[in-house]
Amino acid sequence: MEKTLPPAGKLWLVGAGPGDPDLLTLRAARLLASADLVVHDGLVGDGVLALIPAHVERISVAKQRSRHTMKQELINELLVRETLAGKQVVRLKGGDPFIFGRGGEELDAAREAGIACEVVPGITAAAGCAAQAGLPLTHREDASAVSFVAGQCKDLSDQDWSGLAGHGRTLVIYMGLASANAIADKLIADGVSPDLPVAVIERGTTKDARVLRTLLTDLGDLVVREKVASPALIVVGKVAARADALDCLGAPGITEIMGNFA
Ligand code: SAH
Repeated sequence: MEKTLPPAGKLWLVGAGPGDPDLLTLRAARLLASADLVVHDGLVGDGVLALIPAHVERISVAKQRSRHTMKQELINELLVRETLAGKQVVRLKGGDPFIFGRGGEELDAAREAGIACEVVPGITAAAGCAAQAGLPLTHREDASAVSFVAGQCKDLSDQDWSGLAGHGRTLVIYMGLASANAIADKLIADGVSPDLPVAVIERGTTKDARVLRTLLTDLGDLVVREKVASPALIVVGKVAARADALDCLGAPGITEIMGNFA
């Protein structure tokens, strides 16, 4: 007698973009509508989650008050197990899965388990936030290179950012809010001018977005003074002066100083 093969599951690592559901790719939207299971993290915007049909199973691996974020190994196990069970599994991640999203680890886990896996790119926070702020990350006059770095506290002292910020370059820092002061000190100690413009973009692409601008020397104070909340991105470089932003250097004369960079 002919055996019926079990249904072939597939895992999709899908970028949800920086928040605004309009910035989802068509492929991501289509997959959300046809998935059996969506596993998402906390960065995925409510507007995007609202696109998941009610009958689709949904698991959040976001940080909740009573417990920590689900450990990456457990997430990997969950994704592999559910895919092997024959489901179409969408792993929905903020921004792009391969930019500080641990998508690489999930892809490794899928490869190891021998399950089918496809990656769907998303608009990463840097691109989405910069667009909303009218801040060109590269510009023929100001920056011919752009770097994305992770600024969380624990790795900061190990990271070598020399040459990533300064003349002709734009540095975009993800997860840098808590260590903003240390980041500014680190860059200045590396020889970056304290007068370099900096933009801080809070909740970029959402209706609550705020774009604040100051100079590198004031970055740490600005974050405290303005009570900047996560998620936020820090952009360091001459291009930051081009942003549609609120000037926030807590000292008189900001307009003249910023004017030098316009
Ligand atoms: N994979 C994501 C990044 C995950 S790391 C991407 O490609 O965008 C999480 C960090 O991304 C946050 O700490 C913050 O620095 C940044 N971020 C994500 N969404 C953001 C948003 N809407 N506004 C500002 N920063 C954002």
